[in-house]
Amino acid sequence: MRCPFCSFDDTKVIDSRLVAEGGQVRRRRECLSCSERFTTYESAELLMPKVIKTDGSREPFDEEKLRSGIRKALEKRPVSVEAIETQISELKRRLQATGEREVHSRDVGELVMEALRALDHVAFVRFASVYRSFQDLEEFRAEIDRLSAEPREIVANKIQSDKS
Ligand SMILES: [Zn+2]
Repeated sequence: MRCPFCSFDDTKVIDSRLVAEGGQVRRRRECLSCSERFTTYESAELLMPKVIKTDGSREPFDEEKLRSGIRKALEKRPVSVEAIETQISELKRRLQATGEREVHSRDVGELVMEALRALDHVAFVRFASVYRSFQDLEEFRAEIDRLSAEPREIVANKIQSDKS
């Protein structure tokens, strides 16, 4: 592939290893012209179910949209890119495992919530408070109680801002 630094069109692979629990190959490449090094990730392109939106329309599963959403929820949180990629691979695997040609966007949302919960509890609460309509405040508070590892002031702020 083309070098992103000098656009020379040949590079050599200097390291290759499986990441994201075998779902991706990470390759370290070196440009044959300018000797700059960069990394590429390779994963199989699999057929994903279409997503049924709340208005009933269908749209193709958009991995980049999903990735940017998860990254946004994890902004400034101590979570590695590789941990995120592992969760995205897992999420896709689970969507494919349903065997359905179409899935509801809220089901995708639930999988995103599970991925976030596995990655970072603070981001999970942040995401949950925005995107998930909890049945009532008790349910939301019960959710927060489960997140016992949370820094206290963040949980307190969250409950405070929900009351107002
Ligand atoms: Zn180059």
